[in-house]
Amino acid sequence: MRGQFLAFDIQLTEKNSVKYGKVTKKELEFIRSIVGPERLSTGESILDLHSKDESFHPGRRPDVVVWPLSAEEISQILKLADEKRIPVTPWGAGTSLEGNPIPVEGGIVLDLQQMNHILELKTEDLQVRVEAGVIYKELNQYLSRYGLFFPPDPGASATIGGMVGNNASGIRTIKYGATKDFVLSMVVVLPSGKVIRVGTNAMKSSSGYDLCRLFVGSEGTLGVVTEITLRLIGLPAEFMAAVAQFVSIREATDTVFQIMRAGLSPAALEFLDAPTVQVVNQFKKLSMEETPTLFIEFHGTSAAGLKEELEIVKEICSENRPLRFDAGIGREERNRLWEARYGVHESIKVNNPGLSPLVIDTAVPISKYSDMVEWGQKIIEEKGLKGYAFGHAGNGNLHLEILGIPEEKAQWQKVQEAGEEIVHFAIECGGTATGEHGIGIGKRKFMKKEHGESLILMKQIKNLLDPNGIMNPGKIFE
Ligand SMILES: Cc1cc2nc3c(=O)[nH]c(=O)nc-3n(C[C@H](O)[C@H](O)[C@H](O)COP(=O)(O)OP(=O)(O)OC[C@H]3O[C@@H](n4cnc5c(N)ncnc54)[C@H](O)[C@@H]3O)c2cc1C
Repeated sequence: MRGQFLAFDIQLTEKNSVKYGKVTKKELEFIRSIVGPERLSTGESILDLHSKDESFHPGRRPDVVVWPLSAEEISQILKLADEKRIPVTPWGAGTSLEGNPIPVEGGIVLDLQQMNHILELKTEDLQVRVEAGVIYKELNQYLSRYGLFFPPDPGASATIGGMVGNNASGIRTIKYGATKDFVLSMVVVLPSGKVIRVGTNAMKSSSGYDLCRLFVGSEGTLGVVTEITLRLIGLPAEFMAAVAQFVSIREATDTVFQIMRAGLSPAALEFLDAPTVQVVNQFKKLSMEETPTLFIEFHGTSAAGLKEELEIVKEICSENRPLRFDAGIGREERNRLWEARYGVHESIKVNNPGLSPLVIDTAVPISKYSDMVEWGQKIIEEKGLKGYAFGHAGNGNLHLEILGIPEEKAQWQKVQEAGEEIVHFAIECGGTATGEHGIGIGKRKFMKKEHGESLILMKQIKNLLDPNGIMNPGKIFE
């Protein structure tokens, strides 16, 4: 056993397997007997819709798409799939950027979108219990009536189940945390069909292994999450926002480091490089200076407190020769100042028709952020490629979209080489290949370098929970 633990090439069950089973007429009949005739489809357009996420990774049709309504239905389907070794891939809204929900081995896609009920709001405990298919934007609209919110904000129209799957986060993570920091308990259907509850509704716990955290970020490879209890935050009373524009990248990114070092607690601290500001200007008909830019936001209980923080931020920015510093207090001012931060991905897409992005999502310790941005730009330039750098700078999270045409082999090879060099740099800085998008297909090759021997333990956990390798095969592990 000890020898096995140390063996790096421990095989996943799925790789040892002869072949996965297919969904034949007999299995379709069985699934139909569970969910009825309306909640499954083998129609071509439905299979196509569930063959691809938002990444460049090639799609693959599943054999069937099923829309379950309960853990019990999912349990029966998983029992069948486990027995016949049929792959099962959970599906939220399909907005992933790393091929995470692509059913690369076919089989059954379980689309959770009809499990979209807010089951219980406990305002006095600051908690909400939801089904996995609830869309987070809709959840926040509902919660705002009670002065509450669920802060992780992945931008796209994601489901809570999908956010749990990828441990999604976003612009407010710097102050409030990622999805994993809000999940208190969950109902999970294991590949065997067994339904378990993990976690409790206590705000803290030292009770045994943290199984909630094991399932959060597991990308549907360990089981299907059907119900989640989230802790909530009171909506901030006051907002302060600022936009600071600099001559050089180093001046912008050093400012990020200095704001964090000053002990301030921004609710968002975002970076856009000059080419990114340029495409956003074009797409949104704005007239920002096309230079490295920081978007800053603070939340507080009073305008007076925020004014003090604003003065400190202004002073820090002024030490780094800003070309422009614009700030305001209140929600309207915040929306005005932040207009250019939203729709970056769309702006890049629209301004570069015919090109696909390879999306980098590295995160590094905050002191290395400036080096990370400069390194990324250097690699892209050296390879004669086009790229855009932006990201959640306060968390050390950098997105680089490197553009190319996947079908043009030689050019795409360069794009991939650039991506690899950038990710290797991040890992060597003590960082990660993915701050928030997950491993999916695209980042599997970096797992060994990032995790070393811990990767063996991850594979053993996968084999223990999913001995037949049916859950979302081909993801996380090579
Ligand atoms: C324009 C754009 C901007 C984005 N910005 C961000 C960002 O700022 N931050 C960020 O974190 N992400 C971002 N993303 C990526 C994506 O939106 C998130 O990862 C999101 O959480 C995916 O949710 P989804 O519902 O679409 O899940 P899907 O893509 O459908 O699935 C995600 C993964 O979770 C699994 N899964 C889904 N539901 C369940 C379930 N019930 N049980 C178990 N496993 C499940 C799937 O199998 C898959 O592996 C962005 C995407 C786009 C297109």
